[in-house]
Amino acid sequence: MKLTHLYATELSEAVTQIHPDVPGDLQLQLVNSSHAQELALPDKWWQDNLLGRQLAEKDFALCRQAVAQKYGGHQFGHWNPMLGDGRGLLLGEVENRANQRIDLHLKGAGQTPYSRQGDGRAVLRSTLREYIGSEALFHLGIPTSRSLCLFDSQEMVLRETPETAAMMIRTAPSHIRFGHFEYYYHAGDSAALKRLFEHAFIHHFPEALSEKNPHQALLKAIVLRTARMIALWQAYGFVHGVMNTDNMSVHGITFDFGPYAFMDNFVSNAVFNHTDHQGRYAFDQQPGVALWNLNALAQAFSEYCDTEQIKQTLMLFEPAFISAYQQTMVNRLGFSDVDNTSLDLVNRFLTMLANQQRDYHQHFRTLSAMDPTQAQCDLRDEFVDRDAFDTWWQDYRAHRQDEGNTDAQAALMDSVNPVVIARTHHLQRATDAARQGDYSIAAELIEALKTPFDDKWADTVWANAPVDDVQVSLSCSS
Ligand code: AMP
Ligand code: MG
Ligand code: MG
Repeated sequence: MKLTHLYATELSEAVTQIHPDVPGDLQLQLVNSSHAQELALPDKWWQDNLLGRQLAEKDFALCRQAVAQKYGGHQFGHWNPMLGDGRGLLLGEVENRANQRIDLHLKGAGQTPYSRQGDGRAVLRSTLREYIGSEALFHLGIPTSRSLCLFDSQEMVLRETPETAAMMIRTAPSHIRFGHFEYYYHAGDSAALKRLFEHAFIHHFPEALSEKNPHQALLKAIVLRTARMIALWQAYGFVHGVMNTDNMSVHGITFDFGPYAFMDNFVSNAVFNHTDHQGRYAFDQQPGVALWNLNALAQAFSEYCDTEQIKQTLMLFEPAFISAYQQTMVNRLGFSDVDNTSLDLVNRFLTMLANQQRDYHQHFRTLSAMDPTQAQCDLRDEFVDRDAFDTWWQDYRAHRQDEGNTDAQAALMDSVNPVVIARTHHLQRATDAARQGDYSIAAELIEALKTPFDDKWADTVWANAPVDDVQVSLSCSS
């Protein structure tokens, strides 16, 4: 494995070199073998927990040039220039089998100059939630950072209650956040901002360099990628929970998992982060917040693009979001074309789920098993208002017939309507067991999430919605 340090060397003023301070008794508990293979990491990395022991060594090559990155961010709408990697370190970049450079980032690696009041640690609960959540999104086809491995330890750290510390290595094309650009813009440091842009162009957005205005092309790429990611979040009921601009990746990948959740019952204004009293990051606010965040990012482009160019570029968000969202949703009902009829059927289906508080994921999946040649549909028993369902069903089956009612429609539905979702109650069970040293539930869940569309999970616990319908709220402390 060859580790490079392009970010750390090209942007040396934007990092602080720090040696990881790792808990003494690290145990390697999870390894994402298929991802490790994509990264061409040798098997001996993991043998006998080699990596866990070596992380603590002073001169271990993987950590020798680890750095904390400086950034800022808009947190709940307020600019905060004091941010940076407070408990994570960029170890460097590796080249994957597709010749793309991928960051290795060690989370929970001790204090840095950006830790503020924090202890530099990450707890097992949140680390395992991130590990599982990012893999869940990945296998649903939603852009995200990935998880490479997870360590636990017996070291206690204090959150709302005492918890054990853990670490993970996550991967991403880079760890450049909206807040990186914002930071140098608000600091008035044009020279550093210019170097950051150059680094981003050369290593991550080379295609923008051949455009008339490369900066505008870069902004456009970020806008379009973000729009697609958010469309998929909305289509799959994913709530990020802390969409501060320091948690937004310029690659348009899901990033910095906190109190995230996949909804169970369809509640359009669901909030899971229990510190989000205003509901700023509620499910139905996410598209608007993403655009707000892109606006905040776009200010950093103002030396390179005029107001009109920025406005035009930001205006690409809404149509890109809407078209990706609508396409995914009509596919979930078995239609290939977005038209008034298919959209009306989507809207009415969502309205029924919302009004009658039904499970978001199960009802799409169950629908794909229903036969649209039949006048009656068993799914009606799931709804309190059966008349509304029956009327919808008649219109739905008519449109399925119009479109040919083919096997391909049914196959399309099965390929986009998951059986397995990383639901909060699954995550809870996995983290509860892991805290007792038992990773078997986490491992089984991760296995199921690798093929979320496979019918083989239909009769397993992984297909289950929670028994009680109480909407949980999740702690932001991690
Ligand atoms: P987050 O809410 O996880 O996105 O974190 C916001 C900021 O707080 C980032 O700069 C983090 O690095 C920092 N931070 C969060 N938790 C800790 C911690 N336990 N120790 C040090 N810094 C932290
Ligand atoms: Mg963060
Ligand atoms: Mg975080």
